[in-house]
Amino acid sequence: MRAVAGLVLLAATVVAGCATAQPLVQVSASLTTVPLPSGTAVVSRVPGVPVESCDATASLRPSTVSGPAVQAIRQRGRLVVGIDQSTNLMSFRDPVSGELQGFDVDIAREVARDLLGDPGKVEFRLLTSPERISAVQDGAVDIVVKAMTITCARAEQIAFSTVYLDAHQRLLVPKDSPIEGPGDLAGKRVCSQVETTSLATVARVAPEATLLAVQNWDDCLVALQQGQTDAVSTDDSILAGMAVQDPNLHLVGPSLEGEPYGIGMNKSREDLVRAVNGTLERISQDGTWLSLYRRWLNVLGAAPHPPEPRYRD
Ligand code: GLU
Repeated sequence: MRAVAGLVLLAATVVAGCATAQPLVQVSASLTTVPLPSGTAVVSRVPGVPVESCDATASLRPSTVSGPAVQAIRQRGRLVVGIDQSTNLMSFRDPVSGELQGFDVDIAREVARDLLGDPGKVEFRLLTSPERISAVQDGAVDIVVKAMTITCARAEQIAFSTVYLDAHQRLLVPKDSPIEGPGDLAGKRVCSQVETTSLATVARVAPEATLLAVQNWDDCLVALQQGQTDAVSTDDSILAGMAVQDPNLHLVGPSLEGEPYGIGMNKSREDLVRAVNGTLERISQDGTWLSLYRRWLNVLGAAPHPPEPRYRD
């Protein structure tokens, strides 16, 4: 039997002053036939994540000596930042003002504050997860601040700052779900975004789950609410942003993988990498990092210490 089927006649609404009440809307709906979000694919094979064989979270030591990349940004008068617009708490549009805001947005603004003397001198370019690396490589953006995990494979293609957030991949499920951890995922549907570490990790820890790969994190939230997936799996920072939008959902299970976030930059722009690392050091020492964490991510619990920077030269 279909969960919800047939013709639903909405009760007639009596409009003040009308003698006869008319049915205003007829809705024919079945939740089982609601289409999946556009671009969603059920994937059976995801390239595995190789065991991390390098020390990708160690970056270049900060320096205030400006080189060609920093000078070009100063000449332009604005920092071009690749970012997302639909990850609640990290980078999303304020529904009233339309302005981008969130933890990643504020981190980018701190970089602009140090480079240009003004946190407002930022031009945001919206990116999907698969676009992050090419946007940095072809110079479409100066920096990418988009919940991006530092991995060895990515560090071969772009440069990363030091770690600015230690996220952890977990699961988001309805509160009445029997799923309590990765051991309960066999035969279940799990939603993640294409070309993310999240999708690859689910494939590794839950090989018997059906993977639903979507284009935007919002699509996973909608699929979970519509009963089209049994769980969403990605970083706790992103899942928390979904959970605060729906009190019927909660995070469960242990960390499936550590997700150290870095700011992505072009490998040839070493002076920019050093300048950005200087900003990350400043904000972890002057209390800015802590206040940003408390402003956006307090739903994850008490604020941890800012990540300890690691340098390789
Ligand atoms: N941190 C994960 C990644 O870099 C997921 C975040 C995202 O893509 O938005 O792949």
